[in-house]
Amino acid sequence: MSPETWISNRSRQFDSSGIRKVMELAAKLKDPVNLSIGQPDFDVPDPVKAACIDAIERGKNAYTVTQGIAPLREKLQQRVDQRYGHADRSVFVTSGTSGGLVLAMLSLVDAGDEVILFDPYFLIYPSLVKMAGGSPVVIDTHPDFRIDVAKVEKAITPRTKLIVFNSPANPTGITYDAEEAKAIAELAQKRGIALISDEIYSQFVYDGPLPTPADYNPQTIVIDGFSKSHAMTGWRIGWVHGPKSIIDTMIKVQQYSFVCAPQPVQWAGVTALDVDMSNYRDDYQRKRDLLVEGLTGYYEFTKPGGAFYVYPKAPAGLTGSQFVSRAIDNNLLIIPGNVFSQRDTHFRISYAAPDTTLQRGIEILRKLAT
Ligand code: PMP
Repeated sequence: MSPETWISNRSRQFDSSGIRKVMELAAKLKDPVNLSIGQPDFDVPDPVKAACIDAIERGKNAYTVTQGIAPLREKLQQRVDQRYGHADRSVFVTSGTSGGLVLAMLSLVDAGDEVILFDPYFLIYPSLVKMAGGSPVVIDTHPDFRIDVAKVEKAITPRTKLIVFNSPANPTGITYDAEEAKAIAELAQKRGIALISDEIYSQFVYDGPLPTPADYNPQTIVIDGFSKSHAMTGWRIGWVHGPKSIIDTMIKVQQYSFVCAPQPVQWAGVTALDVDMSNYRDDYQRKRDLLVEGLTGYYEFTKPGGAFYVYPKAPAGLTGSQFVSRAIDNNLLIIPGNVFSQRDTHFRISYAAPDTTLQRGIEILRKLAT
């Protein structure tokens, strides 16, 4: 019997062809202008590296309690309590924000449940919903990527279990304003639907404080992590906070899956929380302004308020993937929008890159705009 016949129907429901195709094309380029990367271009700050090395040398290498080591969990809890002041909000440590998302889906979604997502979405959301046995219900936010609550309300059915909100958003870099965060928070509360707020880019916000639905709906499940803020993408650590009954369930599921986040990295996390990252944030704001200025008048796009992405429309007559093929022919690596969307009309640029790379990218993009 062929091993392929053993593969579950669950995992047959989604494929990785979109991203793989771009990576295959990219592998052919010798020295590409790479504006495709979804992680910071700076390295982990030295004190955080030192804390990790120190933990390894002190023998902090074993399993930890599932919810995370007390010094990290307590520090996070203190900050969460100070920020929100909610009576029922507990926190635990996960294996990356992705780990938190997996646990949230498995803890909340039953077979046949519907989960509302906004298109364009972070690419793992629809697959995670399907893995949990649910059905993604995708709300189109093109062309301005704002959230129209009336549309969300219309999409709600008796099977709607969860709404996934992400601000600043990947791939658009949009930060939703207080009105949108409040409207979605109150709608979820009014209709008794769970709400996840993926705030992994919360440290990369450029135009004022970040409104969070958790300010308006105390039952919001907030997902955050160190991957983007401290360039710790390969270290696999994040955290989740929300109502205790949900957090306890997620911890239970983590006990039988991820077990715990890597111990040395948890100790590094304790240090990371006290490292001032504002210079990095300021630098990315400057890069955002550089790219926005470089593309204005050449492409149609919404100015992003956070993260490190810009999401322009492909020039007239081209699909997003046709345009990306053309960019790759010109040595520029970017991501086609159909990886993040049911549409094939846009492309994602990441400005988490050195200024020289960014400048070269802008030159190529300007040339390709005509
Ligand atoms: N959420 C969003 C919106 C992201 O862009 C990413 C990373 N690209 C993640 C979650 C996952 O991050 P990690 O698992 O590294 O914490």
